[in-house]
Amino acid sequence: MKIARFRTSAGEERYGLLDGERLKAIDGFPWDGPRTMGREYAVGDVRLLAPVEPPDVFAIGLNYRAHAEETGANYPPAPVIFLKATSAVIGPQDSVVLPAMAPDEVDYEAELAIVIGRASRNVPESDALDCVFGYTCGNDVSARDAQLRYDVQWARGKSFDTFCPIGPWIETEIDPDSADITLRLNGRTMQSSNTSDMVFSCRKLVSYCSQIATLRPGTVIMTGTPSGVGFARKPPVFLREGDTVEVEIGGIGVLRNVVAKEG
Ligand code: ZN
Repeated sequence: MKIARFRTSAGEERYGLLDGERLKAIDGFPWDGPRTMGREYAVGDVRLLAPVEPPDVFAIGLNYRAHAEETGANYPPAPVIFLKATSAVIGPQDSVVLPAMAPDEVDYEAELAIVIGRASRNVPESDALDCVFGYTCGNDVSARDAQLRYDVQWARGKSFDTFCPIGPWIETEIDPDSADITLRLNGRTMQSSNTSDMVFSCRKLVSYCSQIATLRPGTVIMTGTPSGVGFARKPPVFLREGDTVEVEIGGIGVLRNVVAKEG
């Protein structure tokens, strides 16, 4: 099942069940059991929004083996958790904006994003995937100068407006332990991996995060990025105005965002 969120030409915002090129509008939240309302829209007639408005966005650092190696870090003994501001969330038809405060070293990170479906606290790993509603593509956009050179912690570099594209929809059926994940920058493949390279599985991450905070429905967990990020390349590659970034995850689809400049 694929669930999108969209704005109609009349300005209404709804969730919808994707059926080919049609969206069947849903009453309420999809994780409450999608009840379609009998109203349908053509995908081309609506604006696709971020598929969820998360109450929190957790993110995981250094969670793919080859990415930990490219940054020179050891595999972490436990998940490295940070938060991204929810105000940074954008959808599949929005632009990533290079912030005036730190425009020069903005980088991409393809990530599988978990969407929580029910309130969860202290969930054992064995039950963790039962708390998940579905999965979407995410891009953990990061201003590397702010993140790594100037600030002791990562909040600023990871939380500029537009730095959390997710979408284009939530897929409820994929196996999160064996999904292909790819990032293309202007058509060139920059990251290509599989979620089986994760240090900590989705099951482990949900359980671990639920021991920190109550995971509310709609909470997003960004599960870390594979190798091939821009700052670890020689020479480094950073996002520039006019670039197109695509995150593709097998079984979900393609999240495509254009890069713009602030102002
Ligand atoms: Zn990341």
